Amino acid sequence: MSLTFPLHRNPDPATDDAVARVLADPGFGDHFTDHMAVATWTKDGGWGADEIKPYGPFQVDPASAVLHYAQEVFEGLKAYRHDDGSVHLFRPEANARRFQASAARLMLPELPVDAFVASVTELVRAEERWVPGAAGEHSLYLRPFMFASEVFLGVRAAQTVTYSVIASPSGPYFAGGVKPVDIWVTDRWARAGVGGTGAAKCGGNYAASLIAQYEGYDHGCSQVLFIEAAGKDRVEELGGMNVFLVTGDGRLITPALTGTILDGITRNSILTVAADLGLRPEERRVTPDELFEGIADGSTVEAFSCGTAAVVTPIGAFKSGHGEWRLPEGGSAQTLAIRDAILDIQYGRAEDRYGWLRPVS
Ligand SMILES: *Cc1c(COP(=O)(O)O)cnc(C)c1O
Repeated sequence: MSLTFPLHRNPDPATDDAVARVLADPGFGDHFTDHMAVATWTKDGGWGADEIKPYGPFQVDPASAVLHYAQEVFEGLKAYRHDDGSVHLFRPEANARRFQASAARLMLPELPVDAFVASVTELVRAEERWVPGAAGEHSLYLRPFMFASEVFLGVRAAQTVTYSVIASPSGPYFAGGVKPVDIWVTDRWARAGVGGTGAAKCGGNYAASLIAQYEGYDHGCSQVLFIEAAGKDRVEELGGMNVFLVTGDGRLITPALTGTILDGITRNSILTVAADLGLRPEERRVTPDELFEGIADGSTVEAFSCGTAAVVTPIGAFKSGHGEWRLPEGGSAQTLAIRDAILDIQYGRAEDRYGWLRPVS
């Protein structure tokens, strides 16, 4: 049975004035729209009870499995308004497939790709007026997620699951515009290990990375770069973003997907457009020594992080307990070109050469 997410309208939606006030300064993750998508899955009955309904709290039993064993996975994507007023999703099938892979890792059921795409599409259609204009990189951030909602304290593969999508109008992830951020390289904490859940987009990975994030704040950094935990000889990624290096001779280097790194859709899109910008992409192992020495000897000229929420953010320096490696000041030209190339496709300012956009209205 395919899920269609029929709309049951909120009888008491926000007023147009209230929506306008939010859209004038949406922030990130602070405001939520009038509706949410929901569906449930049971081991015996499969998927059903799909609808778009008024936004509101879940009833969660204290014995719900997710509260005890963290069986939860999520996604993040955005709806973009183009200058002609139309609204588009960016590669939602890629999010749908990754959601399936994340769910499979946590023994949660796989939501069919078309059901995932239907849920985000129907929610955005219902929330058209909440999609901000393109100015200032605003968008409607979408958060699909799934959790084990069965009332049972035994440890087992989920037998009852709640799926939902909520929507939040968003401005730039980092308030204050695109400026280089300093990155703390932790050799104390790990977010993932070989054979673990590092490649799954699950809430637990974020819980595990927070302590390192706060260690980074203590050193004046806003994000953390994780190094592979066991051998300490492979650069992985940030807590919620992938990482890239740009060399003076035009190579665009990012750590290969080894099972401990999240397969970012922004990462993949950047690797795809790299050649259009005259860069040669390389996915391979990057050692911490290569990272630091490349900056020290001047062969690495730029570094940046990337993800749906923050798009592409230049890195100013890497700092660790052993030193500080600062990239050339004001040298983010390639990073900004990559950033613009992705944003121009998302906002319909450049030709969608790779067929990534899905119009919803
Ligand atoms: C979501 C996420 C990313 C970025 O993925 P995108 O698909 O580009 O948004 C990178 N790393 C981690 C750990 C993530 O959770």
